[in-house]
Amino acid sequence: MLDTREHAASYYAATRNTDVTYPGFSGELRCDIAVVGGGFTGVSAALYLAERGYDVVLVEANRIGWGATGRNGGQLIDGFTNVENIRKRIGSAEADMVRAMGLECRDIVVDRIKQYSIDCDLKFGFLDVAARPAEMRDLEDYIEDSQRHHYPHEMRIVDQVDMRDYVETDQYIGGLVNMGNGHLHPLNLCLGEARAASDLGVKIFEQTKVTRVRHGAKPFIETESGKIFANKVLLAGNAYLRDTVPKLKRTVIPVGSYIIATEPLGDERARALLPPDMAYCEQCTALNYFRLSTDGRMLFGGLCNYSGRNPKSITASLLPKLLKIFPQLEGVRVDYEWGGYIGISVKRIPQFGRIEGNTYYVQGYSGHGIAPTHLGGKILADVVAGDTEQFDIFSKVFHFPMPGGKWFANPALALGMMYYRIKELL
Ligand SMILES: Cc1cc2nc3c(=O)[nH]c(=O)nc-3n(C[C@H](O)[C@H](O)[C@H](O)COP(=O)(O)OP(=O)(O)OC[C@H]3O[C@@H](n4cnc5c(N)ncnc54)[C@H](O)[C@@H]3O)c2cc1C
Repeated sequence: MLDTREHAASYYAATRNTDVTYPGFSGELRCDIAVVGGGFTGVSAALYLAERGYDVVLVEANRIGWGATGRNGGQLIDGFTNVENIRKRIGSAEADMVRAMGLECRDIVVDRIKQYSIDCDLKFGFLDVAARPAEMRDLEDYIEDSQRHHYPHEMRIVDQVDMRDYVETDQYIGGLVNMGNGHLHPLNLCLGEARAASDLGVKIFEQTKVTRVRHGAKPFIETESGKIFANKVLLAGNAYLRDTVPKLKRTVIPVGSYIIATEPLGDERARALLPPDMAYCEQCTALNYFRLSTDGRMLFGGLCNYSGRNPKSITASLLPKLLKIFPQLEGVRVDYEWGGYIGISVKRIPQFGRIEGNTYYVQGYSGHGIAPTHLGGKILADVVAGDTEQFDIFSKVFHFPMPGGKWFANPALALGMMYYRIKELL
């Protein structure tokens, strides 16, 4: 998954709206703000800054949207986990602000799509599916809590009798519909946002890996063939940043996650399986998620690999899971398989911080990033402009390094996840 500097061979790469590429960088350059990483976080930050008139350079090691951004499940989900934890450890006002930011991040995506006329197949409708009574109770608690906090979008519980109107399987006993969330083509969204940023003057360089970041009062970044001097540096490399900034490496663990896309199923067959064309997500630890693409393929994801090792065959690992839910698809052809790395942090809440003065970062969205990355980018842009209110709340959360050090952090995480899985099964 890391051995190509072009896009992974995914359904998204095959159906991207544009083949536009940006040049590589060499030489020396000065700018207000240098952004490292061209995923949702980096592009969102660059776009916000360009809108405010900053002189921005964005440097991407591979292609815009090459990382988790261009490979994910496309499930647009609002909210942050662990809000109650923030209430306990930091304060009630802060927790309420994080809850509000959970709504704001989804709105940013929807607004960006409208504002810049980005064609990325956005559809509203999301169904959290429950396979066990305990999961159903969690969904009921969740809707109650959301209503108590005046959640602005339509939500409803679906009981077992009505589940077939939503998904043609006997695997689930109920679910929770949320019409504020939905699904989209993530790579086309990111490419559209990058185009908007470039139109506003952001200098984008692709296939330019940052090899070193010099922090301090006058920071600069070194690339494979040059140097970029900036007033501030924003780090948005997330799970792929690794050795570029050793200080950040141990607080985020790259965890593999994988997706298959079937052949187009045809309108009738596709709609028979998922009549309302929503995004679907299970509740358990080893969860599966699925949805239809615009051309009627089943996009089916799951199989988080905490060990740090990729499966020998993604299709051989995921197809049986798909067929267990939809035996009607026996014999279906799989046209695409791919995977990417999610940045997981112990507390499952994004890590915001500052290094030696003028370097800022955000990472570790923990598998739930399309919407939060957009807010992440905005928060970094706000900090540059002198507004640190949202940044200060997140940066109060202390993120300790993953236990286990260089060699054992992934196995330790795998063990932890196995513990939760066994607990569920019991
Ligand atoms: C398979 C999969 C499915 C997922 N499904 C969903 C989903 O359905 N819904 C959801 O909300 N979230 C999902 N996520 C999570 C979501 O995709 C991420 O949280 C989000 O895309 C992170 O964006 P990012 O910009 O922070 O990082 P990335 O998209 O990973 O971007 C980081 C970029 O930085 C670049 N970079 C790193 N180091 C350097 C360097 N030294 N020099 C230059 N560039 C560098 C990388 O090349 C990369 O392009 C999924 C993730 C995966 C992998």
